[in-house]
Amino acid sequence: GQSSCPRRRQTVVASLKVAVAGGGLGGLAVAGALLQKGFDVRVYEQASSYKPFGGPIQVQSNALALLQDINESLTRAISADGTATGNRKSGIKDGLSDAWYCQFDTGAPAKKRNLPLTHVIDRPKLQEALAKFVISQSPRAIRTSSRVVGYCNHADHVDVLLENGTTESADVLVGADGIWSSVRAQMHGEDARSSASYSGYHCFTATCKYVSEDVDEISYKIYLGKKQYFVASDVGQGRVQWYAFLGRPAGSETQGEKLGFLSSKFDGWSPEVQEILNATEEGEVEARDLYDRAPFVRKGWIDERVVLLGDAAHPMMPNLGQGGCMAFEDAYTLASSLGELGSNASRDQVHQALERYQRKRFGRTAIVQGLAQMSSNLLFHYERLATGGVQAFLGWGVFWSTIGSVIVGGSMPLVLDFLYVNLVDATEQRTSDIPESPTKAWATVKASSRQN
Ligand SMILES: Cc1cc2nc3c(=O)[nH]c(=O)nc-3n(C[C@H](O)[C@H](O)[C@H](O)COP(=O)(O)OP(=O)(O)OC[C@H]3O[C@@H](n4cnc5c(N)ncnc54)[C@H](O)[C@@H]3O)c2cc1C
Repeated sequence: GQSSCPRRRQTVVASLKVAVAGGGLGGLAVAGALLQKGFDVRVYEQASSYKPFGGPIQVQSNALALLQDINESLTRAISADGTATGNRKSGIKDGLSDAWYCQFDTGAPAKKRNLPLTHVIDRPKLQEALAKFVISQSPRAIRTSSRVVGYCNHADHVDVLLENGTTESADVLVGADGIWSSVRAQMHGEDARSSASYSGYHCFTATCKYVSEDVDEISYKIYLGKKQYFVASDVGQGRVQWYAFLGRPAGSETQGEKLGFLSSKFDGWSPEVQEILNATEEGEVEARDLYDRAPFVRKGWIDERVVLLGDAAHPMMPNLGQGGCMAFEDAYTLASSLGELGSNASRDQVHQALERYQRKRFGRTAIVQGLAQMSSNLLFHYERLATGGVQAFLGWGVFWSTIGSVIVGGSMPLVLDFLYVNLVDATEQRTSDIPESPTKAWATVKASSRQN
């Protein structure tokens, strides 16, 4: 509570000072956007340095449009380092029979709204592009080895408490410290270590050298099976990123080699799934339990001068590839709301700006959390949806499979229509001119990949 916080004098500054807890995707994006608007920004990141970690990530059309509006050259760097996937179709296949269940087009809904096409980019490259964008505007804005452990709200400022015992003061604190957020833990009066719930699903992932036969037409495929599914996405430079999702209890250990375990789990599946697993190095495979949370309807995202953003505000399942994209949308919206404040904004005005941000973001992110959860359940219960559990009756499998295909195939365009909106202020909307980076040399890449 406020009464137990020691008083410190706030120095008078020319622009509002914003402290950001967490220098991940959302934290760096909001820092970059706020610096552009003239704010004094500090990012406190717990890691000692940005190490290359994590595979490729989809930056979808809705998020790329906002990054483009924040800074054109940042977006060009992402497009140049990444690979366009929105210029080809995505689809769902039956894992065992390899038959197409449905296909959908992510490019058309983007083009309809003048949005750039979805790209995939290696997470470390994306992180580096965002960090460079921040540092180019304020060389000392990012402080590494700085773990935020709490905060104290005061009438005219907020104190940010760091693990090393020091305190920094700011006008606003943004909690962008991810799914296990310490800022949210204090705001909601809960323990950070138990503040997310296990989804029931375990995920293995890796990137390997592999080029599909149909890479020029299809960039993203989901193979469905009973209580498990496999996702393969072209990520450029002759590589595929894959995910294997299995229903398992939290903390399940995999005995022996992960690839051997997965090969047996996906035994008899599409030859492509087996080929991709065979092309993967054991050391490349990462495994993790997946956690999420229902929307924080009662507790919200704001405590006086403190506000949540990204996974701290709305942890979600990764199925839609929208967690980071929602963090970028948050960053854009929060920077716009705070951008309306003058440098001597009162406590009430700051609070109102944070409330405007929450009002604009809460409903949309809650729906995306719900859609991600729903699609995850739907994919896991594929057999039931496809066959209705009545395989014993000849012909029913085909009937339910058709119904399932109509439901999934028919709902995907609606989901994409909802996701791919242009949140850039209407007056500033423009036609996307982000180049559709490399897909041209596939024939060569395919040939050399087959030789290796
Ligand atoms: C398997 C998988 C695949 C995914 N694929 C996609 C995809 O394709 N597209 C997409 O958009 N999203 C994807 N996501 C989701 C995406 O990774 C997250 O939504 C995104 O990283 C959230 O950004 P964030 O900044 O909120 O949190 P994070 O990126 O987690 O960043 C939080 C940062 O805060 C730091 N930190 C934590 N605690 C503290 C503290 N107390 N003090 C200071 N610093 C702290 C951390 O070190 C970290 O740097 C995927 C997620 C998973 C698990």
